Amino acid sequence: MKSFSTENSSESGRTDLKTVRKILPFLWPGSTPLRLRVISAMTFLLFAKALNVLVPIILKEIIDDLNSNLNLIASIPVALVLAYGATRLLSQIFNELRDAIFTRVAQRAVRLAGRGTFNHLHRLSVKFHLNRKTGGVSRAIERGTKGIEFLLRFLLFNVLPTVIEVLLVSAILWKFYGYLYALIAILTLLTYIAWTLCITEWRIKFRRSMNESDNEANTRAVDSLLNFETVKYFCNEDYEVERYDDSLKRYENAAVKSGASLAFLNIGQGLIVTLGLITAMILASLGVVSNTMTLGDFVLINTYMIQLYLPLNFLGFVYREIKRSLTDMESMFELLNAKSDITIKPGASILRSVKGEVAFDNVSFCYDENRNVLKDVSFKIMPGQKIAIVGPSGSGKSTIARLLLRFYDVLGGRILVDSQDVRDITEGSLRTAIGIVPQDTVLFNESIYYNIAYGCPSATAAEVQLAAKMAYIHKFVAGLPGGYSTIVGERGLKLSGGEKQRIAIARTILKNPQILILDEATSALDSQTEQEILEALSEISKDRTTLSIAHRLSTIIDSDEILVLDQGKIVEHGPHSGLIAQNGVYASMWSTQKQVANARELLKQLDN
Ligand code: ATP
Repeated sequence: MKSFSTENSSESGRTDLKTVRKILPFLWPGSTPLRLRVISAMTFLLFAKALNVLVPIILKEIIDDLNSNLNLIASIPVALVLAYGATRLLSQIFNELRDAIFTRVAQRAVRLAGRGTFNHLHRLSVKFHLNRKTGGVSRAIERGTKGIEFLLRFLLFNVLPTVIEVLLVSAILWKFYGYLYALIAILTLLTYIAWTLCITEWRIKFRRSMNESDNEANTRAVDSLLNFETVKYFCNEDYEVERYDDSLKRYENAAVKSGASLAFLNIGQGLIVTLGLITAMILASLGVVSNTMTLGDFVLINTYMIQLYLPLNFLGFVYREIKRSLTDMESMFELLNAKSDITIKPGASILRSVKGEVAFDNVSFCYDENRNVLKDVSFKIMPGQKIAIVGPSGSGKSTIARLLLRFYDVLGGRILVDSQDVRDITEGSLRTAIGIVPQDTVLFNESIYYNIAYGCPSATAAEVQLAAKMAYIHKFVAGLPGGYSTIVGERGLKLSGGEKQRIAIARTILKNPQILILDEATSALDSQTEQEILEALSEISKDRTTLSIAHRLSTIIDSDEILVLDQGKIVEHGPHSGLIAQNGVYASMWSTQKQVANARELLKQLDN
């Protein structure tokens, strides 16, 4: 048991060291103006500390002066009193200047760390994003970046100067009053540090559990609010509140334990400092009584001890906070350590002047072991050709699109674009060449204009409108009170499925890719709009390689080739007429859909 805890604490010590090492470069940033700021802040810090140590000495001189000339009004040590005031004031001014100058360095570190983590998150693979919990991740970044600021400030401005001050004061005490006083100061300090570190180590677990329940509460709140419609469908408001409260309760309990243990720590610290102070005072009183010390010396020792106590008290707080920041930062650095399972090849080539030839060569793939999703899938699309993939739900159609976009790597075979393996091409150039209208369109909670322009942020307003017109959404947008500035709501929830789909089509038109993937691009539209959009899409897909995924076979009958997918295998392929003639799976799907369509038509006529 003992060895386990030792291992654990040495393990956590190593992690802490690693974390501290990661933030050290922020103390010596790349840019010269920032470095000058660090140097000036350090200079002000040293001046402030030197003055701080000087103040009690001047005070002692004043007291001794007054004590020896008690009856002479004229002998008030004006110069000393003024020097005392000036020293105190200057020390404070230097401290303030130090803080003001360093703020830019600390804030730049916060910005760089936040930006770096955000950038890293966006570079991680789809698999990571599917497994992460949004609320927890945003909390980890928020607390982690705050932790960096805290650590920078306190390592530099508190730990270091406190050590300098303690050494200076001990040296002065030793020189002027003998080793006993220095010993008392140093012993008090060491006991204090030992107590603080031990108790803080023990307390860390409460903070960890506070963080965990805080993350959990946040994740639950975000998830629940994002799913507000589902919550309402099932009248599960109370259930959601209970789940949220469950995490809050855990947080409350951990926070109470943390608070109580903090009181314990503080009482212990107070006791140690008071013992040190009292011992020094007794010794000094004896000195005054036996005339080996002046009143000024008594006050000087008292002031130094109290002055030491202040940063010491801070040291405890700082150590606690540093530990807390390190714990907070751990989860942020864990995010930074997360590796993408899509490896970017060094020296990968850039796909230029794309012709749009796509080939799947014996591709096999599975998301989870033991469940093959695609098995030996092979097909080729020549530049400008239109290919459709049909098949039952779950047969792997959308997976083909995801693999082409390299959201996942194939497990067997290869995927070629313009005869180059997608693993040898940079992700950026591959995805620039491909445009997709996905099955479920999710929009940013911004304006309609923003969402369309997302396909090409540098597009002009006229180009955005043209794309909207081509996607048959312009009329609708122009009719809205807010026009293109209308905010679409979280995930685009203020728009209908069909409207969202048309916005997705417009932004893909604006992107102008050479390879187009239409994943059930018209599934949310009524037949009238679908017909119009299909015409627009066929216009857009002219001269572009197009891969359409469709359930409604009537939308893809003019494709050059139709692949019929069943349980991850291509079971039939050929043009519509050829597949009908084969009288196989496709022909039976076609006749079923036709029968359903005929029955609907009949019902409509009867209704009329
Ligand atoms: P639909 O027509 O319903 O959209 P589909 O043919 O496009 O279906 P895919 O989305 O390609 O089907 O999914 C193929 C199979 O892979 C399904 O059984 C699905 O449950 C599974 N699957 C999809 N995404 C994942 C994932 N991220 N992790 C694990 N399994 C997944």
